[in-house]
Amino acid sequence: MTYLLATASTASLTPEYLAHMVADLHLVIVDIRMDTAHRQDAWSGVNLAQQYGARYRYLPDLANVNHKVQDMSKGVAFVDYDTGYAKLMELNAKSRVMLLCSCHSSNCEKHEIARRHEAATGRKSGIIEAPRTNEQRKKL
Ligand SMILES: [Zn+2]
Repeated sequence: MTYLLATASTASLTPEYLAHMVADLHLVIVDIRMDTAHRQDAWSGVNLAQQYGARYRYLPDLANVNHKVQDMSKGVAFVDYDTGYAKLMELNAKSRVMLLCSCHSSNCEKHEIARRHEAATGRKSGIIEAPRTNEQRKKL
């Protein structure tokens, strides 16, 4: 089991590089944003669904209710964690998955999912930030 974590932002990842990753690593992008609209078209849910077809899944069950800046101090609260986690495990049985949200934080709902997964399985989850370079990608 390896999860990759990524932020839907060109500052973190270019759309072109994402396309390479999906192809090389046989990823399914699991979008856990509450709102998949994005000011850059490349990152909108509609666009990603069109581009990636079955390699893109929107999983709002794992979205963070407290995703707005003014609510972040309340911590992570999932829409429906158990349902979302079950769907995630189903996807992960067939493919490597990459959790995609909008946060630049190193401690957001993606990381909370990672912690809960480790606690539930008693194993290191192998959760890593998405590779940023071709060298890093080749090691996966
Ligand atoms: Zn996040």
